[in-house]
Amino acid sequence: MEESSKAVSLTVESPQAEAKPPHEAVFLVLAYLPVYEIVVMSQVCISLRDAVNNDILPWLNVIVERPLSWRLNDEILMKITSKANGRLKTLALINCMHVTDEGLQRVVKQNPLISKLHIPACTGITPEGVIRAMKTLCQRSNCLKTLSINGICNIEKEDLDLLTMYLRKNIPLQEQQKQQPVYYHQRGSFSLLKHEESQRLIDLEICPRCFEVRMVYDCPKGHCMRKEWPLAQCRGCNFCISRCENCGGCIESGEVEEGACEDILCLECWLQLPKCSFCNKPYCKQHTNWWRTSSESSLICKVCDENSHGYTYTDVL
Ligand SMILES: [Zn+2]
Ligand SMILES: [Zn+2]
Ligand SMILES: [Zn+2]
Ligand SMILES: [Zn+2]
Ligand SMILES: [Zn+2]
Repeated sequence: MEESSKAVSLTVESPQAEAKPPHEAVFLVLAYLPVYEIVVMSQVCISLRDAVNNDILPWLNVIVERPLSWRLNDEILMKITSKANGRLKTLALINCMHVTDEGLQRVVKQNPLISKLHIPACTGITPEGVIRAMKTLCQRSNCLKTLSINGICNIEKEDLDLLTMYLRKNIPLQEQQKQQPVYYHQRGSFSLLKHEESQRLIDLEICPRCFEVRMVYDCPKGHCMRKEWPLAQCRGCNFCISRCENCGGCIESGEVEEGACEDILCLECWLQLPKCSFCNKPYCKQHTNWWRTSSESSLICKVCDENSHGYTYTDVL
């Protein structure tokens, strides 16, 4: 009983906060946040909670990534997407393995205005499920503009052809040809702020080297030697061409270096990056938060820090 009276007194004290709605700019920001951050925001105060619950804007672009992705299932997905009242524009489910073909189809049926569908590594979805969703979305003229399906298992060339055909149906040829290069070191990033013109219609294609359906990367090195040699163009999938985790450039077999994160780096990047005082290995851009510092001047990698823990620090300092 005490507990509940405490709760009541808390809500009674808060009308001041309720009276003042959040600054208008907050609504603009909310529309760009992943679902996890929207939920966190809704717990900050009552006015933000109401803003999130009563406004449609934060729910028009649904982005689910870590740490929520492994918990998302068809049922929760349905609940989240229904907040858009059928006006969902972006559905980005990164690595949500519990979402199935049925779950995707239900969302797509209720939200015919989806223009970006990003479902990379959603292993519970099959190529047939993607094609079915695509058919549903392309029935109208304001059709899907970009599709990401890398990491969905068993996508065959025929599936890719069919998907590309659907995607191209409603997109002017000019726009189709404006495809921008895709770089290996930027592969995991999904951003709503990216302009539509800079995104590919579909992330997968047929690798010009091995002819398999894969992500094909371009080489960002302007001065790359291989570009000048037509037979060894450095455009290809990850299996055909090794790439630097830091700059996305292609790596000749002789110049491969390893970072403390075990990612591979080109010699140029390896030479420039700061290195661990113990093992002399750098971290790639994606893993700079793995550094441990022992003093202002020296960096220690996570591996060396864990190995030395209990000896070096307390004994030496
Ligand atoms: Zn290949
Ligand atoms: Zn590099
Ligand atoms: Zn290259
Ligand atoms: Zn180290
Ligand atoms: Zn790394």
